[in-house]
Amino acid sequence: MHEECGVVGVSFKKESPAALSIYYALYALQHRGQESAGITVHDGVQVRTLKGMGLVPDVFNRGDIQKLKGHVGIGHVRYSTTGGSRIENCQPLLVSFKSGTIAIAHNGNLVNSRDLRTELEKEGRIFLSDSDTEVIAHLLVKELMHNSLEDSVKELIRRLIGSYSLVFLVDNRLVAVRDPLGIKPLCIGRIDNGFVVASESAAIDILSGQLIRDVVPGEMIIFSNGSYESHQLVKSRNAAHCVFEYIYFARPDSIIDGELVYNTRMRIGSTLFEEHPVKANIVSPVPDSGITYAIGFSKKSGIDYMEGLMKNRYIGRTFIMPGQDMRETAVRLKLNTIKPNIEGKSIVLVEDSIVRGTTSRRIIDLMRKSGTKEVHMRVGSPPIISPCYLGIDMATREELIAAHKSVKGVEALINADSLGYISIDGLVKSIGIPEDDLCLGCLTGIYPVEIPGERCGKRQLKLSEF
Ligand code: AMP
Repeated sequence: MHEECGVVGVSFKKESPAALSIYYALYALQHRGQESAGITVHDGVQVRTLKGMGLVPDVFNRGDIQKLKGHVGIGHVRYSTTGGSRIENCQPLLVSFKSGTIAIAHNGNLVNSRDLRTELEKEGRIFLSDSDTEVIAHLLVKELMHNSLEDSVKELIRRLIGSYSLVFLVDNRLVAVRDPLGIKPLCIGRIDNGFVVASESAAIDILSGQLIRDVVPGEMIIFSNGSYESHQLVKSRNAAHCVFEYIYFARPDSIIDGELVYNTRMRIGSTLFEEHPVKANIVSPVPDSGITYAIGFSKKSGIDYMEGLMKNRYIGRTFIMPGQDMRETAVRLKLNTIKPNIEGKSIVLVEDSIVRGTTSRRIIDLMRKSGTKEVHMRVGSPPIISPCYLGIDMATREELIAAHKSVKGVEALINADSLGYISIDGLVKSIGIPEDDLCLGCLTGIYPVEIPGERCGKRQLKLSEF
């Protein structure tokens, strides 16, 4: 099961209510997960939780937020995936034990959760959900029964293989932990009267806070009584920041591991023109994910930027009946062409990524029906050839179009006049982080952690060695 999520934690010095700030921060992270949302707060004595299926405004109303009393708390939004869409999998997850209660919110995906779960079940632990977060919670509680928080989390890190940016409450202490390779993002900020930790810095901006820094891979930060302390529990030689956060997942206004996502995408757009120049009348994005790339491409090439497609932002979930005509309706419901902008013209169509190829094929089909003369597709991600095991809901290897077809083959399938993907080198340079500190698993098939049946990079430490 994939876990693409957004997490947030807030710790106030005084009795300011944390729930409202968490609620706003979750709004800022809504793009990271639309399936469910939840908030847990602690007032020093009691823990309170509210979570449910749906978008943030569907789950919480004003009265709910007022009832969630507590000056420290965490929140979570979860991504819609094919399996595991159940209320039991909503987070934060609460686990009570002899010495108290922990509440935990997790972004990432464990590779060894099945083994860990089997081991814990043999010890008599009962699981209520099928999420790997519950495995983390049980392991943590098991350690906390006998050890300090620091030693417990150290042991946790030693056991977990995969990606995890965690925020959790141990009584009224807020704790943030990032896996030793820093695969998923996590950063901390200062807000009026306290601190915030969040998947993306855009959530700190929403609270009028200041980004302090990213949580360092392998670091645990404990927030309490208006201050925070850092514990560097393990140190890896390299990081393995997920490139797909820069390509697609994160908001362009977020700064992740020191790089503003917007700038990265602009640079990718510019590099795309250098690597795959083309003569055309206009540069058009696939909205919204292709916009920043298209602006970068337009600036570098001098070709005018003009929108050829308009997205319906209120589409939400809709049902589509089977049949060829309805399929076209489905695309048109989501995207419509601005006919006069594209009719009779040669267009550079810029997209962030091609996964299965279905979206690109349908969009190009739509553009041709609106009279576009030529469609030159440029893609901000190199060909995606391998699945993601570390938290991006991508596709299986069978479904990944570039795993089976050459660039020319994909070009023919999507019916483009030309197709150009950014190179891996070009992508890495555009991100601005050394290649050894990035996870490029979906682009190379070489992963930063051991995954059964897949290749593991030599230069990166295997988490199991900790
Ligand atoms: P496909 O039709 O499978 O080629 O999907 C490509 C489209 O999906 C592009 O418009 C991407 O912006 C978008 N996309 C890429 N990765 C994801 C993801 N993990 N979740 C949802 N959409 C994605």
